Amino acid sequence: MKCIKCKANVLGDFDFCRSHFVENVERRVKKDIRQNNLIEKDETILVKDPLSRHFIEKVINVPVKIGKKGREAMLWTMDDEILVFLDALFGRKSLRASGIGVIKDRIKLFRTVTDRELETYSKIKGLKFSKKRSEKEMRILRELDLLEKDHKETRFSLIKSIEEISVL
Ligand SMILES: [Zn+2]
Repeated sequence: MKCIKCKANVLGDFDFCRSHFVENVERRVKKDIRQNNLIEKDETILVKDPLSRHFIEKVINVPVKIGKKGREAMLWTMDDEILVFLDALFGRKSLRASGIGVIKDRIKLFRTVTDRELETYSKIKGLKFSKKRSEKEMRILRELDLLEKDHKETRFSLIKSIEEISVL
């Protein structure tokens, strides 16, 4: 398979070659931050992991300070967003209280990127990334992977619906 942006071979089963994969992940994160004003200029952000630090220092073009206080940059992926949504939906909990969508007190840097994409990105960049998932969460994510074998956009469609519901 060839990259959809150039003629190089794709990375694993992604649609992009290595360098366009990196570019695509970074672009989605930047776009989300810009469109939803997730980060304010000159604010101080609490950063606890190397991957968030990498994005804040090297990828996102917003001048900020990294400090010991301030809003926390969370290692929160698209999979987190989907898991919390499904949990609220089937556990009949309040969606509003579940923490989906844009929240004010913390920064979800990776809402537009899946666990697997972030894992691959980290490997390429030589950064540490690990996500602790419960058995139940793993099971749900595996189901999603299965669905994506036939419907590649499953996670993206779900996240779009979540966005729409969370602003109601
Ligand atoms: Zn390419």
